[in-house]
Amino acid sequence: MTVINGKVVVITGASSGIGETTARLLASLGAHVVIGARRVERLEVLASDIKKDGGSVVIQQLDVTEMEQMQAIIEVAQSRFGRVDAVINNAGVMPLSSLEALKIKEWNRMIDVNIRGVLHGIASGLPVMKKQGFGHFINIASIGAYEVSPTAAVYCATKYAVRAITDGLRQETAGQGIRVTLISPGVTESELAESITDNEAKEIMKEYRRTTLPATAIARAIVYALEQPEYVDVSELVIKPVI
Ligand code: NDP
Repeated sequence: MTVINGKVVVITGASSGIGETTARLLASLGAHVVIGARRVERLEVLASDIKKDGGSVVIQQLDVTEMEQMQAIIEVAQSRFGRVDAVINNAGVMPLSSLEALKIKEWNRMIDVNIRGVLHGIASGLPVMKKQGFGHFINIASIGAYEVSPTAAVYCATKYAVRAITDGLRQETAGQGIRVTLISPGVTESELAESITDNEAKEIMKEYRRTTLPATAIARAIVYALEQPEYVDVSELVIKPVI
């Protein structure tokens, strides 16, 4: 067993892709995973798989844009397991398009899920971690948090914001036993690109996604950050496919 064994880890956006794969890996290493997403039927299938393999899992329907729902999943973790060791703010959406396409509803959805969702995760988890005197936030950004690409201005803006918020959180929680990690995946196999409605962006994405990482590559990076001794803060990891 690794030091992951027995950790209580809340994961947002665990119904597919990176979140789902991370939940499976952490549960296989003995973590208690508390998993949230809107598609609860997908969480049920995942939970049943994890339990079949002897893992510990609790599911909770979760829309990260609703602060009360984010608070509720943290409360579920606390009441079931008595503490929260880590919150993985992973939920995200990526309906890409050029700015001139004026897909304002899609811009707002990205801002709501990718930025407000992460802030809700912090707002819900931080008071608990401060009281405990320990905890670990793992925020999922993107290589789009470092460089803007065509049709991705708003998506990248949300990920730059996640990077800035994560850095600020690390500075402000110094000396409180709280660790803060930013994980920035490169192109990874998942359902993320399926929400793109804009034809130009779909074409660009086809080319962009020619070389992808399996989601396990990101899950392993998350495990790496989590399993470090408490005096090690893995601040930022960028994981890209070999090209
Ligand atoms: P997926 O689309 O496979 O997974 C996204 C997850 O987010 C789903 O479980 C979805 O569940 C959840 N989600 C979306 N909206 C909400 C919401 N309002 N409330 C709660 N959960 C929500 O994509 P990935 O696994 O790739 O994405 C995970 C993270 O990784 C995202 O933050 C993404 O930006 C980031 N990332 C991904 C990259 C890639 O190439 N795949 C590259 C860089 C970063 P549901 O719909 O059931 O709510």
